Amino acid sequence: MIVKQIWTANSYRNFNYLIACPETGEALAIDPLDHEKCLRAAKDAGWTITQVLNTHEHRDHTGGNDAVVRATGAKILAHKNAKDKIPGMARGLGAGDVIKVGRTVELEALDTPGHTMSHVCLLSHTEQPALFCGDTLFNAGAGNCHNGGHPTELYNTFAQQLAKLPPQTLIYPGHDYIENNLRFTLDREPDNAAAARMLARLSGQDPNRAYVSTLAVETEVNTFFRLTSPTVIATLREAFPDLPENPDPKTVFLKLRELRNKW
Ligand SMILES: [Zn+2]
Repeated sequence: MIVKQIWTANSYRNFNYLIACPETGEALAIDPLDHEKCLRAAKDAGWTITQVLNTHEHRDHTGGNDAVVRATGAKILAHKNAKDKIPGMARGLGAGDVIKVGRTVELEALDTPGHTMSHVCLLSHTEQPALFCGDTLFNAGAGNCHNGGHPTELYNTFAQQLAKLPPQTLIYPGHDYIENNLRFTLDREPDNAAAARMLARLSGQDPNRAYVSTLAVETEVNTFFRLTSPTVIATLREAFPDLPENPDPKTVFLKLRELRNKW
């Protein structure tokens, strides 16, 4: 499996992806908003885009579909419940469905509601797994829920699915928000040395050669995986004095999501 991360350099800071089979040159494009960059990258590599995968229905993820389909005839795949929201869907995905790319690549669909209620992440069947997580999980952050999402569902997705993936899983999110998100982590957890080191190292990074984290790294620097940290709970209590003595992780997650919206 070959992964090409494509930085769009737009104001939403989207990342698009091409996933290619090294044997056949067939490729799947994830959320190819910047269709020109995606088509050019495929051409330069000698790949043929045969499938487009939308992680969810938001326009900054689906806006390149028409142009890519026109140029390549690719099939559009997305969550089965996105059928009424994404025009021209050829395949609706449910949890556990496998997408094949060429002869060698298998990607498993995870049903990951929260950012929207028809959001999929893709998990590669490779020795070191890779997770293409759209707007569910970001480097050092979590997706928002204010355009068709639900915070409780997002918590369930984090706790019941993402947190249980192998620690070495590579994380490929739909946007480059790492710098801002690390600042939020440090606002909530000023003594998080790993987040401070990472912010110093990545400030002003070139998103064309973006750092790729793993789930193990996220559990160190992503506030939304640090729901039992005494510092996270203590600073949360400053904002929410009614927080119980030993708050359950779900309560902490929901309060953090609420604070992040205003931050
Ligand atoms: Zn979105």
